[in-house]
Amino acid sequence: MDDLSSRLSRDLQIAGEVVEKRFKFFTDVIKPKIKTKFLSHLVTTVEDLINEKRMKEIIDSVKEKRNDIQLIKALFASRNVRFYSIVLIPMNIRRRATTRYHNFGASVYYNSCFKDKQIRILIAHELGHIVNKELLGTDNDESTANLFAYIAMQDKNDFYDKDSKSYVFKSDIAILNEILNVCNIPK
Ligand SMILES: [Zn+2]
Repeated sequence: MDDLSSRLSRDLQIAGEVVEKRFKFFTDVIKPKIKTKFLSHLVTTVEDLINEKRMKEIIDSVKEKRNDIQLIKALFASRNVRFYSIVLIPMNIRRRATTRYHNFGASVYYNSCFKDKQIRILIAHELGHIVNKELLGTDNDESTANLFAYIAMQDKNDFYDKDSKSYVFKSDIAILNEILNVCNIPK
């Protein structure tokens, strides 16, 4: 075990073997999956906004028709069920990217041959279409989808360029020390 692993093992009171296994799980299982979650914050935020809108529509219609049991059931279910989910699907398609809509969400297909930096732009553009259709109810044209892509990428760029610096720890040990500081460490 290297210095860091033994320090994690000692300070977090976990067997060295478990430390190694958890690192391996993160690297082999979680990390490759993270790589496919392009613009994840933006995707879930658009999803949330559409969910909230649909939830409000259901509540409003229940208020109008007080006796409609199906709608009331739907209202209760809505507390746990997501009405809208956006799924990103890599494909070897001829087009750059395209979105298919269904009742409970949208599937964004993107050409996985593009570079990651370009894929993020393609997905931001498709999210622009979803925002037009589901949230703004405006004309769903290419120009406004491109404008949304620009605004979203500019915001992301600012984050990586400036805001993200405040989240960086000076060293691996600094991360561990902050965990020991803020988390509950069993005695
Ligand atoms: Zn488009």
